[in-house]
Amino acid sequence: MKIICIGRNYAKHIAELQNERPTEPVIFLKPDSAILANKMPFFIPDWSNGIHYEVEILVKINRVGKYIDAKFASKYYNEIGLGVDLTDRELQSKLKEKGLPWEKAKAFDGSAIIGNFYDKSEFDLENLNFSLQINENLVQNGNTKAMLWKIDELIAYVSQYFTLKKGDIIFTGTPQGVGQVFENDILTGFIESKEAFSVKIK
Ligand code: ZN
Repeated sequence: MKIICIGRNYAKHIAELQNERPTEPVIFLKPDSAILANKMPFFIPDWSNGIHYEVEILVKINRVGKYIDAKFASKYYNEIGLGVDLTDRELQSKLKEKGLPWEKAKAFDGSAIIGNFYDKSEFDLENLNFSLQINENLVQNGNTKAMLWKIDELIAYVSQYFTLKKGDIIFTGTPQGVGQVFENDILTGFIESKEAFSVKIK
């Protein structure tokens, strides 16, 4: 399986990082070794000067598709979830400055926290609240209404470049409020009122 991540999909997050608003979705990949094992803590890597959280709605692909029309994209997923795209922001900034790929800053071991998945029929995907708490303090609070590209548009766009396969996961981008994690933090994610994950930082 592969993990496809969307960058810069929420205007307020683009503003907080002083990035340019893209004319097309920004895409990068994480390998399956980036998945943080279920119930395991995340260990801040020795090489890092600081890891940041980005809470994101996830989409789990349920069948093979290529050049999927946005009109039919909803047939390619039954479940949505919540995760965190862990990022070494300082390293990412250095790589961006030099025009280099972001993988070292975003695709390292454990950088994909993947929480529970839920049947999409439980939610209104066009108006879905999600949030991240650290040590029970709210740090990020998003709603899918604010996405620049909606889930079905992302699937259509991404599938022009990458054949989607059963089990692939799309990270759909983070809202504003990103920040750093520290040792002993507990990150807890919610879709509406459902707790999708709880991960300790070590
Ligand atoms: Zn992200």
